[in-house]
Amino acid sequence: MNSSPDACWRDGQLFSRRYGDVYFSSDSGLAEKRHVFLQGNRLGERFALLSNGYTFAIGETGFGMGLNFLCAWQLFDEQAAPGTSLDFFSVEKHPLDGTELAAALALWPELHLYADELIARWRRRVPGWNRWDFSGGRVRLTLVIGDVAEALPEIVGGIDAWFLDGFSPARNPEMWAQPVFENIVRASRPGTTFATYTCAGWIRRNLEQTGFQVDKLPGFGRKREMLRGRLPGSPAIHPARSTSATAIVIGGGVAGCAVSSALATRGFSVTLLERAPALAKAASGNPRGILHARLSAGMNLLQHFVLASYGHALALLDEKLPVDNIARAECGELQLAFSPEETLRIDKLAALNWPSHLLQRVDAAEASNLAGVEMAHGGLWFPAGGWLAPPQMCAALAANQAIVQHTGYRAESLTAVDAGWRVEGKNEYERASAYEAQVVVVCTGYQVKSFSALANLPLTPVRGQITMVPAMPDSKNLRAVVCANGYLAPSVSGLHMIGATHGFNDESVDLRTDDHAANLSRLTEISPSLARAMNINSLDVSQLNGRASIRASVPGAMPLVGELLPGLYTSLGHGTRGLLTAGLSGELIAAAACGQLLPLPSILVNALSPARRLSGLRVKTPFPNATPGNPKQQEE
Ligand code: SAM
Repeated sequence: MNSSPDACWRDGQLFSRRYGDVYFSSDSGLAEKRHVFLQGNRLGERFALLSNGYTFAIGETGFGMGLNFLCAWQLFDEQAAPGTSLDFFSVEKHPLDGTELAAALALWPELHLYADELIARWRRRVPGWNRWDFSGGRVRLTLVIGDVAEALPEIVGGIDAWFLDGFSPARNPEMWAQPVFENIVRASRPGTTFATYTCAGWIRRNLEQTGFQVDKLPGFGRKREMLRGRLPGSPAIHPARSTSATAIVIGGGVAGCAVSSALATRGFSVTLLERAPALAKAASGNPRGILHARLSAGMNLLQHFVLASYGHALALLDEKLPVDNIARAECGELQLAFSPEETLRIDKLAALNWPSHLLQRVDAAEASNLAGVEMAHGGLWFPAGGWLAPPQMCAALAANQAIVQHTGYRAESLTAVDAGWRVEGKNEYERASAYEAQVVVVCTGYQVKSFSALANLPLTPVRGQITMVPAMPDSKNLRAVVCANGYLAPSVSGLHMIGATHGFNDESVDLRTDDHAANLSRLTEISPSLARAMNINSLDVSQLNGRASIRASVPGAMPLVGELLPGLYTSLGHGTRGLLTAGLSGELIAAAACGQLLPLPSILVNALSPARRLSGLRVKTPFPNATPGNPKQQEE
C-alpha cells in the first residue's frame, strides 16, 4: 500500500531513487518555490484581498515534504485578514517517513514554526484522506495519501489556485497526464489559476486543451521559463457562509460537541441544545471509551471512513484533549487473533503492508510484551490506540466562546422558516421556547422520531453495558487496551473497564447482573491468565459497578452524516464508533455548511449522505481494486 518513496540524500538534497529526481533544489530552495508557485499564482495579492469569512483553496499535485504547503501557509499568515481561512489540498503517493520529513524540513529554519506543527501531525497520517487543522483551524490541510489519478476525481469543493509539482514530466509522466489536468479543471472554480516550474511544450498543449489560458513567465534563477495559466471567468473568491452565520446543534454528546466545535471554528454562532442537565450524559457518558479502529482486508467504504476518522480523531484529540493519562491515554491497542475467524481477518489485513506507525502484526510473545501481561494470542497492534474519557472530550470540544450551551432543553419539533430552521421545545420546568438559525444539525442518537423530517431514518437503539472490575496486583501491569470479542482497558484509580454488551432494540439503561456476567466472560476470552489474576470467578456480579447507555445504529453501520434538507444536517448512527467518527463527521458537516472543500472523497460523502440513504440511491464504485487508500464501494 504505502510503498516506500525510496528517498535518499545526495549532496545535501533529498533525492527520489524511484523517480530519479530531487524533491527540492538546494541552490534555489524556498526562493524558487515562492517565485514559481506563490508569485506564479499571485497569491500574495489574492490573499490580501480576502475579507472576513472568506476561504481560499489551493490544490497541489505532489505533497513531497510539504514545502509548498508551509510557504503558502506562511504567506497566508502574513497577508490574509483575520476571519479568513485557507484550504490546502494535496496528494502524495509515496509519503516520506517521519524521520525523513523532519530531516528534510530542518534545512529551512525560517519555516520551523510551521514545520514543527506539520511534523507533529505527520504521525497521524493514514492511507487515503487525511484532514488536519493548523493555526486553530484557520488553515486546513486535506492530504490524500494515494495516487493522483484516483484522488482528484473525488474532490468535492472548488480550488482557486493549483501548484503542479510532480517530479520532472519525463520521469513522472502520470502526474502530468491529460486526465489529471481534466480533473484539475473539474475541481476548479471560474478564474482558477495554476503555476508550474516546467515549460515542456506538451504540458502546455495539454493544459490549453483542457481550457487553461497559458503564459510563459521567466523562471527562477538560471531557469529560463515557467508556466502559469488561468481558466476563463473572473477569479471569484467563494464566499463562505461562516461570518455572522448561526447554527443550532441538537444533542450534547460527542457528535454534537464535535460539529459545534467545527462550526464555531469557522465563525458560526452555535446554540447547543441538550436534553439532559449536562453534556455527555447519554451514549457519550461512560467514564472511559476506547479508540478502536476495526478494519478488514476487504476495506469496504465503511472501513475507509473508519480509517480516515481514526487519523482525524487522533489529530483532533492532540489539539483538544492532549494525552495526560487521566482524560486520555495513548497506551496502544491490541486486537487479538482469539478465534479462527479473527486470525483470518487479522492475517489478511496485515498482508496489506500497513505503515508500522498505524498497525503491526504481532505474535503472542510480542503481544504479551506490549500488554505487560501474558496474552494467549498474537494479533494486531495499533500503537496510537488507547482510551479517553468521553465527557472530557465533549467538554473540550464545546469549550468555545462561540458555543452557547442550553442544557435541560428538550427539542421537540423542527420547522423550516425563511431564515433557516426553527426548533421548538421545553426546558426542565416544561416552559416552551424556540430557537432559530440558518443551519440545524441533529445529533440526538436514536431519539429522532419526534422530528417529522427525520422520522424515516433507519435508526435502531442498541443498549450497551460496561463493567468496572477492581484491579488486582497482576492486572495492574496491563498497559494497553486489549480487544477480543469485547475489550479491557488498563486500570485507572484501581478499576479496569470491560465492555460491552449489545442489546438491539432495548432502550433501558438499568444495570444488569447478566450483562456484568457476560462482560466477565469476555475477559476470559481476552486473557485467561488475567481473568484468573482478577479472580473473576469469585466476584459478586450484583456488587459490580458499570454503566448502560443506548447507542444508535444503522443498517450497514455507515452513519448518517450530511445534509438531509437544505440547511438541515444530521450526524447520527455512529453506533459504537462515535469516539472515532464524530470528529470527522463534524468537520464534514461544517465544511459543507460553508461551501468549503470537503474532507472526504465524493464516494464517501455520498455513502454517508442521509438524503441519499432516504431516497434509496446507491453509490457505484469508480475504482476497480480495493486498497487501504482507495475506497471501493460494496453494495449497501
Ligand atoms: N510539493 C512538494 C514540496 O513542496 O515539498 C514537492 C513535490 S515532489 C517534487 C513530487 C512528489 O510527487 C513526490 O513526493 C512524489 O512521491 C509525488 N508523486 C509522484 N507520482 C505521484 C502520483 N502518481 N500520485 C501522487 N503523488 C505522486
